[in-house]
Amino acid sequence: MTEESEDQFSGAGAGRMDAIAKGPFAPIYPVIARQAIEICGITEGRCVDIGCGPGHLAMALATASDLEIDALDSSADMLEIAELNIREAGLTDRVHPVSGDVHDLPYDDGSVDLIVSRGSLFFWNDRARAFSEIWRVLRPGGRTFVGGGFGTAALKAQITAKMREIDPEWEVKAAKRLAPANQDAIRRDLETAGIPSSEIHEDEAGFWIVMRK
Ligand code: SAM
Repeated sequence: MTEESEDQFSGAGAGRMDAIAKGPFAPIYPVIARQAIEICGITEGRCVDIGCGPGHLAMALATASDLEIDALDSSADMLEIAELNIREAGLTDRVHPVSGDVHDLPYDDGSVDLIVSRGSLFFWNDRARAFSEIWRVLRPGGRTFVGGGFGTAALKAQITAKMREIDPEWEVKAAKRLAPANQDAIRRDLETAGIPSSEIHEDEAGFWIVMRK
């Protein structure tokens, strides 16, 4: 995690992320969960949501599939909130909070069927290393849905309007993260990591790295 994100995702920052996820962002998680399932075609087995934050994508995926899901994050404060949210949603049998870092994933080689991650890769210190870790733990036949996005163009517009009131700098930061230049940098990192089979799937509200092992 970068220094900037350490503040952003710990203490009061973790609470703010939860409030945003339960407020303006709330409608995007079920939409993104459906997109991940549709594009990756994986509905059972082991899934890891990397940089799960308060756990909303992991919970939406559990609701939409038979996957067993690890909600993994490097921030202890985020995981504490995720644990509460998972308990409140009655999903403790299917969604398990896990402390971990994308640069050194706590999984055996070839042991994970589906890896999802939303809005986290923008904060990784060494994306190439993270990508090779993700590839290492994917099972043959496994897929990833790793990136950033807001579900649909209409949801993105709605969120942008609400976020303008909460954080005037948010719109510029979000646009930079999703910009073609950033996607090009990500393509270079995938190449550096030596990922043999991946594509960047761009939709109307973001982009997703789909690796196919
Ligand atoms: N995925 C959640 C969502 O969409 O609501 C949270 C997104 S939040 C913008 C980014 C998350 O990535 C934070 O919870 C942060 O702690 C986590 N994160 C950042 N760097 C990480 C790393 N190196 N390993 C694991 N998690 C990381």
